[in-house]
Parts: sequence; structure tokens; C-alpha cells
Amino acid sequence: MKEIVEFRIIMRYAHFLFRDDEGTNLGDSVKVVRIDKNDPRFNAIGELQKKACEKNNLFFTYFEYKRSYTETEINNAEWFQMFQTRHFEPSGEECGTIYDESSACPICGSGAKQLSPLKLKRSSIPKADMAVTIAWGDEKVVSERFVNLVRDNNLKGMDFEPVISSANRGQKLNYYQVRPQYYLDFSKKTVFGRTPFDLSGKVPGYTLEGVQPDGTLVKKVIPPEIYKCPNGDNMGLCLLTEAYIKSDSVLNGLDFFASKQTIGGRRGVIRQDHLFFCSNRMMRLIKENNLKGFKFEVAHIVDE
Ligand SMILES: [Zn+2]
Repeated sequence: MKEIVEFRIIMRYAHFLFRDDEGTNLGDSVKVVRIDKNDPRFNAIGELQKKACEKNNLFFTYFEYKRSYTETEINNAEWFQMFQTRHFEPSGEECGTIYDESSACPICGSGAKQLSPLKLKRSSIPKADMAVTIAWGDEKVVSERFVNLVRDNNLKGMDFEPVISSANRGQKLNYYQVRPQYYLDFSKKTVFGRTPFDLSGKVPGYTLEGVQPDGTLVKKVIPPEIYKCPNGDNMGLCLLTEAYIKSDSVLNGLDFFASKQTIGGRRGVIRQDHLFFCSNRMMRLIKENNLKGFKFEVAHIVDE
């Protein structure tokens, strides 16, 4: 496996580490660079981010791990993490999907039960075979073509629920919400954190102070955000390694499961996310049938 990390660097600071002709520029304000973790500049990115954060600023605004595999590594892998590459809005909640927030974890906000069918705006759903709303959470939908592939090949581990149009009362769309039948534990080998350089599980709260035009002092209390929940339900803001899952006897004969614990943060309509995993056979069928909206990475099943 070859692993590099893509960063979006604030352009006016990029010259601290990168030549003008390195990476690609997104307009005038952001430079996108891909860098190996063995490059000495990798850790320098972390140091500059830390210094920038101390001044309420940022050196990079986004990062993403890019992992590539040899054919042998893909052939030998039994399980893959299944990523959704297509995102869309409005979210289910904005379209009238009802959640019971009282059932969510009081510390991290994960796990609110969905009380109604998933409602979505039909025209907003991408023409793909799997997609997720900008809310993440369980708002992952698949096409009829995907459902038929699962049923025709007797792939095990998934149920599907109808998705309802937000415009026409009760009209079923030809998309389905994925409902995993099994949820399995992350191994402690999996690393979570806020960025590759910051493995902390929370951001402390703070108070914003400002003065209104009439001279009144206003204070706004921003609460702490807890990503690594002491209740054990949410693991962190981001997954920083390949996923490691604790071995379980239900895996025999299974083609799909989700992580029991979630990752991410609860903010506005955004919800924490159970990660999806599929068997080598399911990954191959998706690729052979040219289904769209997927990306795969090797996942590891381990004893501890
Ligand atoms: Zn929690």
C-alpha cells in the first residue's frame, strides 16, 4: 500500500514550504499538494498548522489520505472499506426526515434514532449507484441497480428501506436507504484524530466577545466539541489509518457490515457516520458492473 496525504494549503503561506510550481492552485487562495509522510516537509506542515492555530489561523484547511494498492494486495484482501464519493444536499432533515434527538448521546450527540423514512428531494440525488447527503450519518442511498446486484448475487448483510420524496406526500423514489444487518467493533489499532498531527478527541469550548454598533458588549459561549466520546460510541473526528475491525464469527459468509462506533462530529444537520465495509466479492461485482459512487480501501480484520 502506498499512502500519500493531500493538503489544501492557504496560498499566502504556501511559500514557506513549497515552490510556486509545486502542486496545483485552486484559484488564488488555495494550493493543493500531495506529500509522502516520509518527506521531511510532512511534519513541517504540522508544525506550521500548530503555529497558525495559536494565532486563530490555519496553514491548511483540508486533508485527505490517498492510498493505492497493487493488484496482489487487492486480490489478497478479504475486506474493504466502502467510501461514498458522491455527496448531495439538501440533507434528509432539511427535507422533513424526523430524528429523535432525545435518543442521542448527551456527550457527543451520536446515535439519534431516525423515526421516519428518509425523505429527500428527488432532483438533488446524484445519478450514481451510491451517494450520501451532506449530513452523512445514515443518510446513504443506493440505486435500484445496486439493490438488484445485491439480490441477484445473494450478497449478505444489507437491508434496504424506501426513500420518500419530500415534494409528493409518501411517493417512493427509486432509491433506497442502506440498513446494515451487522455492526462490528473497531480494533484499537485504528487511529482517529482531528488531523494527521492532532490526535486529540475534543476541542475545548470558548467565549466569543464582540461589541455591537451601539457599544453593547456581546458574549457568545461556544460549547466544547467532543469527538472521542467517553461513552465509547464515537471514536473521533476523522479516521487517520486504514480501518482495523475486531474479528467476529458473523463475518463468515457475510458480504457487508458497518462499524458499531461512529466517527465525525454533530453540528447543525451533520451527523456522525457508521463506516461501511464489504467483502472482496462485493467489491468486484460493483467494479465489474461499473456501478458509480464508490471508492474502496483495504480493511483489516484482527483479533484485538
Ligand atoms: Zn457519545
